[in-house]
Amino acid sequence: MSQHDHSKFSRRQVVGGLMGSMAVTGMAMASSASAAESGSATSDGAPPLTGKNPLGAFPKPPFERQPQDPPGLASKMVPRPDHGEESYRGSGRLTGRKALITGGDSGIGRAVAIAYAREGADVAINYLPEEESDAKEVIALIKAAGRKAVAIPGDITDEAFCQKLVNDAATQLGGLDILVNNAGRQQYVESITDLTTESFDKTFKTNVYAMFWITKAAMAHLQPGAAIVNTSSVQAGKPSAILLDYAQTKAAIIAFTKGLAKQVAEKGIRVNAVAPGPYWTPLQSSGGQPMEKVMKFGEEAPFGRPGQPVEIAPLYVTLASAESSFTSGQVWCSDGGTGTF
Ligand code: NAD
Ligand code: MG
Repeated sequence: MSQHDHSKFSRRQVVGGLMGSMAVTGMAMASSASAAESGSATSDGAPPLTGKNPLGAFPKPPFERQPQDPPGLASKMVPRPDHGEESYRGSGRLTGRKALITGGDSGIGRAVAIAYAREGADVAINYLPEEESDAKEVIALIKAAGRKAVAIPGDITDEAFCQKLVNDAATQLGGLDILVNNAGRQQYVESITDLTTESFDKTFKTNVYAMFWITKAAMAHLQPGAAIVNTSSVQAGKPSAILLDYAQTKAAIIAFTKGLAKQVAEKGIRVNAVAPGPYWTPLQSSGGQPMEKVMKFGEEAPFGRPGQPVEIAPLYVTLASAESSFTSGQVWCSDGGTGTF
């Protein structure tokens, strides 16, 4: 081995060793994924050892006024969210796995779909029919990663559709061993006296009932080693005054996650949740927050900006990965330094 070859080998070993020792923490994986995509690569092509500075890594407020009707499209956002399209690099952590991701067309779900595909998983995504244009971009990205991509549009507030969604995903993927319950509805209402039963019901149907229906249907397919990752929110612990219904659903998701984790442990199935803080997605600009708050979105986080979906995908990768085989019933938060959980 020449001197040059030797130094290249040892640098890779150092990086690999660091990643191995940090692999149990989602934040460690976040920084390693970012490191690989940021700073200048070394002359031998290995990733740099330094991470990217989270302060200046992504856009900060103020943002421009950009109202959309729900569910909103990622393609209409300014700036466009970063879901890892150009940056996420996989390392075979989900090779051969088969994943269903709800709300996989945009935002956090899209970032998870891209990451899972690049980690070697076949991926089915669900979304609403009016989000087809966003979904098409995700399907193309999954295929570009060399993985099977399955698109299943439909409304998850319907129990019969939830059952069909799971069965179609399992049939088309040839099995199912990762379920990401990520779809969500968030519509702000200033006063409880204006919060209608219809709106309250729709938020619970989308965020709580659908998770229950989809997970219940998935149990027929999930084998030992399977993983479920639910999407809660910092709202579960620190509810905003204008998100009464939404915050309750996000707290319910945590209770469901912890209870189910105990129930299915004997089957060898792990259940965890991710709790995002402010992330730059169409959920917020399509009625999730007043537009004045969207224009300042993320300014209260210590990093002074919203997270970009690519920054949370590593938590979903690590929770789904077999490397996390002793982790279940947990809630992992990513909120730009606020320290909510
Ligand atoms: P997003 O709008 O990109 O994703 C939400 C998705 O939910 C939509 O793309 C849509 O496909 C899906 N959806 C909504 N209603 C549906 C229905 N009836 N049937 C089928 N699909 C439906 O926004 P996001 O922020 O990426 O949201 C993903 C998850 O993250 C949600 O559960 C949300 O509550 C959670 N979350 C987001 C933030 C944030 O700041 N963006 C913070 C905490 C939690
Ligand atoms: Mg969407």
